[in-house]
Amino acid sequence: MENFIVSARKYRPATFNSVVGQKSLTTTLKNAIKNNHLAHAYLFCGPRGVGKTTCARIYAKTINCQNLRDNIEPCNECESCISFNENRSYNIHELDAASNNSVEDIRSLIEQVRIPPQLGEKSVYIIDEVHMLSSQAFNAFLKTLEEPPKHAIFILATTEKHKILPTILSRCQIFDFNRIKVEDITEHLEFVAKSEKIEAEHDALNIIAQKADGAMRDALSYFDQIVSFSGSKITYENVIENLNVLDYDYYFKLTEAFINNEHTKALLIFNEILEKGFDGHHFITGLSKHLRDLLVSKDPQTVELLEVGASIKEKYLNMAQNATLMFLLQALNITNESDLKYKVSQDKRLHVELAIFNLCRITNKAVEQTKTNVTQVIATDKKKEEVTEELPKKEELKKTSSSVSIKGVLKGDFKPVKKEIEQKEDEKIKQNQQDTNEIIQAEQSFGETELVEVWNSYAQSIKADKPRLNSILKSSKPILGEKFIITFKLDNDFQKQAIEKEENEIVRNLQKKLNNGKIKLDIIISKEATKKLLYTDIDKYKYLNEKNANLNKLKQQFNLDF
Ligand SMILES: [Zn+2]
Repeated sequence: MENFIVSARKYRPATFNSVVGQKSLTTTLKNAIKNNHLAHAYLFCGPRGVGKTTCARIYAKTINCQNLRDNIEPCNECESCISFNENRSYNIHELDAASNNSVEDIRSLIEQVRIPPQLGEKSVYIIDEVHMLSSQAFNAFLKTLEEPPKHAIFILATTEKHKILPTILSRCQIFDFNRIKVEDITEHLEFVAKSEKIEAEHDALNIIAQKADGAMRDALSYFDQIVSFSGSKITYENVIENLNVLDYDYYFKLTEAFINNEHTKALLIFNEILEKGFDGHHFITGLSKHLRDLLVSKDPQTVELLEVGASIKEKYLNMAQNATLMFLLQALNITNESDLKYKVSQDKRLHVELAIFNLCRITNKAVEQTKTNVTQVIATDKKKEEVTEELPKKEELKKTSSSVSIKGVLKGDFKPVKKEIEQKEDEKIKQNQQDTNEIIQAEQSFGETELVEVWNSYAQSIKADKPRLNSILKSSKPILGEKFIITFKLDNDFQKQAIEKEENEIVRNLQKKLNNGKIKLDIIISKEATKKLLYTDIDKYKYLNEKNANLNKLKQQFNLDF
């Protein structure tokens, strides 16, 4: 390790083919050279560390190569190429606009541009971080950019395209560089490790690539950092320790705790994470990403969106089987909410703990929901004993509220029960359909007294379960019309909607009790009631004033307004 050269410099690509993750872009540049369609000015945009300056250098080297290969790659052998590779070519000039952004800097550059190159045909001027130029410098530069000497090519590079003046943009050919994919970075790191005879675990390099967030330069400098720390062997453990990355295992353990409603365990894990020096917000965003990764692992079509190493991918696929879609969506909602509110919360730790607590309750709620469903089915279908017997008894269900049994229930014991519930519900629906079919054939006549009697007894039967529906049904009298159409007058739309929700049920009951399949219900809002509706404050006041004349006095005495 004595002569360790910084990898970012040593492994800087020297040909278009060795540029990582910018394939379509390098092809376009090569085609331009092949067809001799060189522009005078280019703008390379994109995040830091993705190869903008590297591509600019390769471009400069390629167009000056005296011995260009058939595949439009520089030969790396001719005088020009060698001088490029040894960083002593006079055909390339670089200006870092971040530190040289004054008019004087630009003026001296313009002076240089006039001088034609001694070797080769083209001089390339790379202006890095071009958005940093002062507006005066921009203006001074504009004229040269408009009418450059034949031998000059400008390559402007920027991370912030939106800060470039439209007058500059319109004079440049624009190339947008992408973030480099984790997979591509990992592959390149593997190549570097192999060349440096460093043994590196694939998962370890994948973590480095993820941490680099699309920037090859960052990835290589992390790589160097770890090599100087752990020598010729890079493991997953020393990478997460060195780069301060939270181990995947924590997230997997936590997810397991969430699914099993073990909030104590989850809180202790979170405490351990905090003790390791991780920030709560970092943890929450990491957890969101983890849940998102589980979500994409559920569908074979989206698994590709997972940017993790092979062995970790395996873990994701396994865990995704245990987590339901519903759980993942609800969990993501909770973490997302927590992420958004993190900054404004007073007690950050409590804020995250609360989110963890809620995450542990998701599946618990689901159990309670199913529990009530089962109880309902048992209550309503006592007749069909043969199926009921197979369902868990009420007492057994109560027991499941202790965490130990819930685990069992969630891990699969519950599934067959759920299926039976579905079966039972299907049966119920079929039964109902049969009932209706039977009745529809009958057409027994009845009088209004009978109707009111049946109506009221139905209202009474639902009083306990649906008190509101009961009071609406009693608020007016059903009127028997022709062809067994029953008109029911209501005061307002809210009442109408409430009845319409239950309309089928009501009609079916009437048909059954009165033995007449032709019965229909016509719900209308009475005109007198519509008139009575008071929309504005003035309407309300007038109405009340009619009822009580003292109201006007009150209004005047206290000088009140609406
Ligand atoms: Zn050459």
